[in-house]
Amino acid sequence: MLSTKVNPYEMAVKQLEEVASFIKLKPSILEYLKHPKREFIISIPVRMDDGSVKIFTGYRVQHNFALGPTKGGFRYHPDVTLDEVRALAMWMTWKCAVMDLPYGGAKGGVKVDPKQLSDNELERLTRRYAFELIPIIGPEKDIPAPDVNTNPRTMAWFMDTYSMSVGYTSPGVVTGKPIEIGGSKGRVEATGKGVVFILNEVLNRLGMNPQDVRIAIQGFGNVGTHAAFDAYKLGCKIVAVSDVSGGLYEPSGLDIPTLFDWAIQNPNKHLSSYPEYSKITNKDLLELEDIDVLIPAALEGVITENNADNIKAKIIIEGANGPTTPDAEKMLLGKGKIVVPDVVANAGGVTVSYFEWVQDLQSFFWEEEEINNKLKKIMVKAFDRVWTYSKEQNISLRMAAYAYAVSKVARALELRGIFP
Ligand code: GLU
Repeated sequence: MLSTKVNPYEMAVKQLEEVASFIKLKPSILEYLKHPKREFIISIPVRMDDGSVKIFTGYRVQHNFALGPTKGGFRYHPDVTLDEVRALAMWMTWKCAVMDLPYGGAKGGVKVDPKQLSDNELERLTRRYAFELIPIIGPEKDIPAPDVNTNPRTMAWFMDTYSMSVGYTSPGVVTGKPIEIGGSKGRVEATGKGVVFILNEVLNRLGMNPQDVRIAIQGFGNVGTHAAFDAYKLGCKIVAVSDVSGGLYEPSGLDIPTLFDWAIQNPNKHLSSYPEYSKITNKDLLELEDIDVLIPAALEGVITENNADNIKAKIIIEGANGPTTPDAEKMLLGKGKIVVPDVVANAGGVTVSYFEWVQDLQSFFWEEEEINNKLKKIMVKAFDRVWTYSKEQNISLRMAAYAYAVSKVARALELRGIFP
């Protein structure tokens, strides 16, 4: 889905340079932050079920650890590149900083189409990837989590491999695990839930009633399904959803609870095989006429200068990481649209990951209600600070979020100094 013209790392550096000039960041610190702290590239040999051996390329990039251990998911996708993982790692640094989490940013990925692998092959791939990362991960070093095409089951294999290697069970090495082995209640729903907390805040500020709000969601994975469910519960009409195969459109509103159950029960089926509703393409979904809110919740680089002018929604809430290119964002803002950046909008996932890690380190687990209340409090506080600053300074929400995050990381770097 990523347009060939958009290099995500260049996009991330461009965003950083813009905020650096706004906050008058020291050139030496800007230079420091442009470069990831550490990059791991691994060849992962996997014995396939037919006895042959295939080599997959895996990455882990740790962008910065000024504020704490690095944190961020890992994805399985055929389009994974080093530059994509670099960008995603940098965005995790800003995301953790803007939410006031005691973490730096990291990201990982393996260039693989997981749908082409059997469960046993996926397990071997995950275990070998985890094993290769052992020198650089750990509850105090770098804590992976789910991302695109990885899930609690992947995290269970990852945690077991690390634990077998160190000789004791170490739940805190990874978050997003199944609840039975140290996962947190509410983690699976957290990213989508957080997107809707933010949606609600935006609607309140604009004086819009959720019952009058029409939404399209691109991406029907972990983020899209839960965002759709919570937005539906809030009273909004979800008129379109899509996945890689295309989307479903119903102007009077989709029956989200039924669609949600279908998606959970059929994890390997695409929406194009859903028997009801008109079918639309991903391109058409982004450009729908009759929507107020667009939630891109799939991959980066889907709103570019090629389609930004065609987007009709007034509010764009970034459920995915990096869905809007800097040029496209300028075009959207020029038309008076509101773009809530990924580092705030989708931060619910990493925030409950933080809760999971804290629970694992203390071996003391919280109730779901407590988790959701804490999540809401943190998200509303971060959003409110970003919204207020953007109004005061007359800057975009992204610039406001980055100004806070980059200043915070820069301050930590200055306090710590350069070693040796
Ligand atoms: N992959 C998610 C993100 O992009 C979650 C990361 C985490 O929980 O550490 O924010």
